[in-house]
Amino acid sequence: TRTPVNVTVTGAAGQIGYALLFRIASGQLLGPDTPVKLRLLEIPQGLKAAEGTAMELDDCAFPLLRGIDISDDPNVGFDGANVALLVGARPRTAGMERGDLLEANGGIFGPQGKAINDHAADDIKVLVVGNPANTNALIAQKHAPDVPAERFTAMTRLDHNRALSQLSKRTGVPVSEIRKLTIWGNHSATQYPDIFHAEVAGKNAAETVNDEKWLAEEFIPTVAKRGAAIIAARGASSAASAANAAIDHVHTWVNGTPEGDWTSAGVVSDGSYGVPEGLISSFPVTAVDGRFEVVQGLEINDFSRSRIDASVNELVEERDAVGQLGLI
Ligand code: NDP
Repeated sequence: TRTPVNVTVTGAAGQIGYALLFRIASGQLLGPDTPVKLRLLEIPQGLKAAEGTAMELDDCAFPLLRGIDISDDPNVGFDGANVALLVGARPRTAGMERGDLLEANGGIFGPQGKAINDHAADDIKVLVVGNPANTNALIAQKHAPDVPAERFTAMTRLDHNRALSQLSKRTGVPVSEIRKLTIWGNHSATQYPDIFHAEVAGKNAAETVNDEKWLAEEFIPTVAKRGAAIIAARGASSAASAANAAIDHVHTWVNGTPEGDWTSAGVVSDGSYGVPEGLISSFPVTAVDGRFEVVQGLEINDFSRSRIDASVNELVEERDAVGQLGLI
């Protein structure tokens, strides 16, 4: 039998954590042959609820689950971690300025990055889900100088999946026959879901739809504002779909993208497509041998260029703001 993989989940007692942990323990993150050990990291106020979740995990008797540890100390929570899902973050509350939000999250993701640097396994892979995800990932990465920067990623897979689903509804083609869709930029309202390179049932998606008004006024805003629409409808933020996207992101990272397709992930920019080097921005990526690679050589039209630039500029502003706060 294989050695268990250590998976650390922060914010484990939150609603995304609740939707995520059972799927990890059942084998959906790493596959049906890989046993897992879970490390639940919480803040002190979350520990009791995390214990309750751990009791329920026990009660599922998952054959692949080889242990659950709970801690409020990142040095313990990330010890030996092979995969880390950073879900817990400080939400924006009424009256909070962006600077306050970035500062509060710097206080979480800086120490977590350092703990990952000092204690995680050599093959650590980090996915940041907690918002502002791209910049939180950047903060953590900057505190982990001994870990290859490419191991820090931010989640835009939920945006990607939302875009797939909207395009499927519009074209009547099942999501299984849609390929090469891209989310560019920040996981925020400025993100840009790009269908110009996408294929629906083998044909170019933008040409198939052939409706720039729909693209600009319906598709893009629907994808970008989906989180708010779900809060309005459900009375709570999306959790199961966010957890599902986290599962998809790591599963793809480990197992690879299918031939002839790609996905979207926030990865450290190498300067491709004019995105400043070092920013954690969403790109079209393939996963090969456990590494994400930015898809190269795509032609970017003017419509796309201005939207990519707007979202990337927002990331530059966030990076400059955390820089001024001394968080990176
Ligand atoms: P959720 O589990 O609903 O959300 C957690 C984070 O995921 C938030 O930052 C949220 O951002 C983000 N997120 C990213 N994508 C989505 C999406 N599509 N839909 C919803 N959220 C998304 O939050 P809870 O409040 O239920 O739980 C958070 C838990 O984290 C608490 O138990 C808390 O104690 C814990 N925590 C742990 C920390 C730690 O381990 N050190 C630090 C801070 C908190 P957004 O706010 O923008 O919705």
